[in-house]
Amino acid sequence: MPRKKRQKHGGGYGVLTGGYAGCLPIDNKANAIPGWGSIRFKNGELGDLRTHMLADLSREQFAVLLGKTEAVDDDWIVTVHDVVYPGKLGVENSSIVALKIDKAFVADILTQIRGRIDVDTYIEVHTHPFSKGGVSFSGTDDMDEKRFTDYLAKEWPEIKYASIVFSQNMYDARYWLCGEGRYIEADIKTQLLYEAICKSSKGYCAIEGEQSDIYSRSILALGLDTMRKIMSDQVIAVVGVGGLGSIIAENLLHMGFLHIILIDDDRLEMSNLNRIVGAGYKEAQDNVYKVDAVAEHLRAVNPKCEAIPYKINVHDPEAEKIISKADWIFAATDSHSSRFRIQQFAFKYYVPFISAGVSITVEDNKITDISGEVITVRMGDTYCLSCLNRVNYDAVAGETHPDPIVREGLVKRGYITGKDLKEPAVKTLNSMIADMAVDSLVNQYTGRQRTIPVLVYENNDAPVIYEDAESVETRYDNCAVCG
Ligand SMILES: [Zn+2]
Ligand SMILES: [Zn+2]
Repeated sequence: MPRKKRQKHGGGYGVLTGGYAGCLPIDNKANAIPGWGSIRFKNGELGDLRTHMLADLSREQFAVLLGKTEAVDDDWIVTVHDVVYPGKLGVENSSIVALKIDKAFVADILTQIRGRIDVDTYIEVHTHPFSKGGVSFSGTDDMDEKRFTDYLAKEWPEIKYASIVFSQNMYDARYWLCGEGRYIEADIKTQLLYEAICKSSKGYCAIEGEQSDIYSRSILALGLDTMRKIMSDQVIAVVGVGGLGSIIAENLLHMGFLHIILIDDDRLEMSNLNRIVGAGYKEAQDNVYKVDAVAEHLRAVNPKCEAIPYKINVHDPEAEKIISKADWIFAATDSHSSRFRIQQFAFKYYVPFISAGVSITVEDNKITDISGEVITVRMGDTYCLSCLNRVNYDAVAGETHPDPIVREGLVKRGYITGKDLKEPAVKTLNSMIADMAVDSLVNQYTGRQRTIPVLVYENNDAPVIYEDAESVETRYDNCAVCG
């Protein structure tokens, strides 16, 4: 170690006070790119960490998180896998403005990280318990962390480093480029926005001008606090912009989400006009891309909407980069392989997702089943599409087979669905499921209802919506994806 004891000091008191409600307004995420760090927690873990660290406000507290860093373009995404509290042995002494960490404790954690494949990042967390609202790293924190990252670069070059400081109500965070003496501002992300706290330098947006007119009725329903969270900087990715995805996208905008990413490489045709929101006759005639038609539709409703169309499918390498930066993903595609792909990204980057699907079965010219379901999966939940048995791995293998001739053969023999196979589809069913799906998302911001893992709609003898608890109870044990 470069010095005998690591020392943490509380410097200034920060410029902001008053906590949550006093947050500064920000425009949107654009100002954080390029060079954006984000430290991401599983469901409930940030709340637990803060409860633990802020229980005793008489002195600074310290913890280490073990994380995994993924570099995406200029961005650094760190997922948190484990939390280690030093206990009495790890802290040599601490007071309200200083903390000394035992070097053996630090060395032990670094050795642990080196020996594991699932983590590569040492994330140091400490508190400034004297500070209620705004908080920033002190001059001593800066010096300390720079020295420590220089030491890491020299002695533990494979280990990466990030740091977080908590006040009672806010945080500051950064990701260091070890050995370069530079750091990148970082945001904390949680699975639940109502669990999240504000970064000192940021906050939820103010809803002003026309936007407060547009959403005045929504504010009356959901409350200003919820609407500010929804409208701030939440980026929602909709993968699959067909009969279901287009309505999901429109619902999102109407609920106040302004940053909507649309991913689909399909073009419009006449047979889409019975159900795709935003698709007009002329556009179908011209075979424009579905994402372009829908993006234009959203911007026509609200010019402030940042609807970004991507004419790619989810297997395109670009899709992973885009999805990694979203706050939530909607899986509204119609293949097993694309849903499975979305789930892989979700778990890699800790982005929660909602899978929506519909099905109409027609036999001998008679409808035998109309149904659909919405599955909400957050990191830290103990279920996913795989253990719920919603992924057909034979179909995944077939759909992603590199040889188009083999793929075509599988389509013909009915093993997988091909692009040319026309499934029965009606808008009323799609709308119902799109409503349930976006309602499930909004519920994540209000916390009004508990999360229902699998929500089913059936319109057979009579229309019913119910929770499919059985699927969850009978899911596979020891799931390789979420376990
Ligand atoms: Zn400090
Ligand atoms: Zn699972």
